[in-house]
Amino acid sequence: MESSLIGYSRGDASAKTFQATNPANGEELPTNYAMASEEEVMDACRLANQASIPLSQISGAEKAVFLRTLADGIAAIVENLVPVMTAETGLPEPRVRAETGRTCGQLRMFAKLVEEGHWVDARIDRAQPNREPLPKPDLRAMLRPIGPVAVFCASNFPLAFSVAGGDSASAWAAGCPVIVKAHHAHPGTALLVGQVVVSTLKKCEWPEGAFSLMFGEGRSVGQSLVKNAQIKAVGFTGSRAGGRALFDLANAREEPIPVFAEMSSINPVFLLPGMNRERIEEFTTGLMGSATLGVGQFCTNPGIVFHPGGEFGDKLISAYVEKMKSVESCPMLHQGICESYKQGLSSLASCEGVKVEYEFESECDGKSSYAGPCVLRTSIADFSRDSSMMEEVFGPSTLLVSYDSVDQLLDLVQYLEGQLTVSIFGEKQDLKSQELLIDHLELKAGRILFNQFPTGVEVCEAIVHGGPYPATTDGRSTSVGTGAVLRFARPVCYQGFPDDWLPAELKEGNPLSINRCEV
Ligand code: NAP
Repeated sequence: MESSLIGYSRGDASAKTFQATNPANGEELPTNYAMASEEEVMDACRLANQASIPLSQISGAEKAVFLRTLADGIAAIVENLVPVMTAETGLPEPRVRAETGRTCGQLRMFAKLVEEGHWVDARIDRAQPNREPLPKPDLRAMLRPIGPVAVFCASNFPLAFSVAGGDSASAWAAGCPVIVKAHHAHPGTALLVGQVVVSTLKKCEWPEGAFSLMFGEGRSVGQSLVKNAQIKAVGFTGSRAGGRALFDLANAREEPIPVFAEMSSINPVFLLPGMNRERIEEFTTGLMGSATLGVGQFCTNPGIVFHPGGEFGDKLISAYVEKMKSVESCPMLHQGICESYKQGLSSLASCEGVKVEYEFESECDGKSSYAGPCVLRTSIADFSRDSSMMEEVFGPSTLLVSYDSVDQLLDLVQYLEGQLTVSIFGEKQDLKSQELLIDHLELKAGRILFNQFPTGVEVCEAIVHGGPYPATTDGRSTSVGTGAVLRFARPVCYQGFPDDWLPAELKEGNPLSINRCEV
């Protein structure tokens, strides 16, 4: 029996329990996990609150040591992660190894960021005591940690967007304590990483409240966390229904708090009318790879393609169907995801004007959760009449939508929901002639791509993994890349304080030698 990690203590192991299920064969995995009680949630929040001030005073250099030690610790348990994570998620071993690498890489990226220190956006406005008609006071501002952050593990990134994933790494980088709500589908993976976090906290002598890991249901444990007055922000990746429920809950609190939920996106792909017909082969190969990668379970999965109709469209559809026929079915992450994929496809297929060109029958029968690819087609006229076609179908399916004129695309774009990505394919010269369309598309997405597919998100300085609602609940943010740290910090201005009291980032002599805006 395993239980929650509450700072350096363990939760009550005699509580109600749950087990994870192997999505490849439907078998329950042997370990029981005790669900956290309301008191345990409160204990974790109390500890996190106690850790807030000590953590906010830890220097960038010390945070970098913690983040790098944690990365080394996670890299060292990859052999333990492989059997546990493959059994819990159906993901293959190479993916476990790759995601371990990405998780450690993210931690090291944030280590470098906080060590350099520029991210705090230091602004110095020196006093002008002799200014007329009024003297100007000394004002110095920088970003400071927001306080304890509740992080929800993502089903589709059991490492890179879970216990020590991007949300937690960016919150620690900002100097915030983190309480993680494990996903019911991969508790064993969460526990392995959680134990490394605890041993790293001890090694680095961080306050124990800097981390807790809670097992239990979203609707009880998750909601209790979000409602707790000690929690000051939320990081989430998952369904629109779940993210929206947490957003509404956070806004209904006496003290509303920011929720950074990354939710649903169909990541539309637009083929411009001038696209060279000779590129259909290369395009359909790339689309197949992107749409079926990880059984289509990526937030940036390209779900809808708008393409010129007529001969071009016919050629594209038949080339794409042939390619998708070669894709084998694979287990999805959990039965719920497999069922909603099946349900989503059947809703789409029942829309007026939609034709299923190819479908591999999925098996979500409780024994296994296998899904295969699906290709559907419709016209832009039918698509525009039925907004349900814009809903995310999370899995390896593609809806191909033919259009006759760019004016139809321009009309449609007005109604397109917010997206993580929009991809445009065509020739360089088309960019100029379709400027208006592209300007409108830019309003809809956090990342706009030319002649490239949206999956395989680069973790770096310039990446934006965000977008207008419903892609996220806060289109001003990114959950991937160094910019993610900004979600968990807020600007504080110090007015009139003596130099020896000010944080190092704001001292007159700039002892950390960081870039600052100085007036
Ligand atoms: P989910 O159902 O939204 O669950 C994510 C996490 O939020 C889980 O920990 C869950 O708790 C919790 N949760 C869900 N609803 C909640 C609520 N009303 N109140 C409090 N907590 C709540 O997502 P999922 O299990 O990962 O997948 C379900 C569907 O989400 C997929 O079929 C897909 O459509 C979508 N999805 C989208 C993305 C994306 O990036 N676009 C990624 C993953 C999933 P439990 O552990 O109790 O379930």
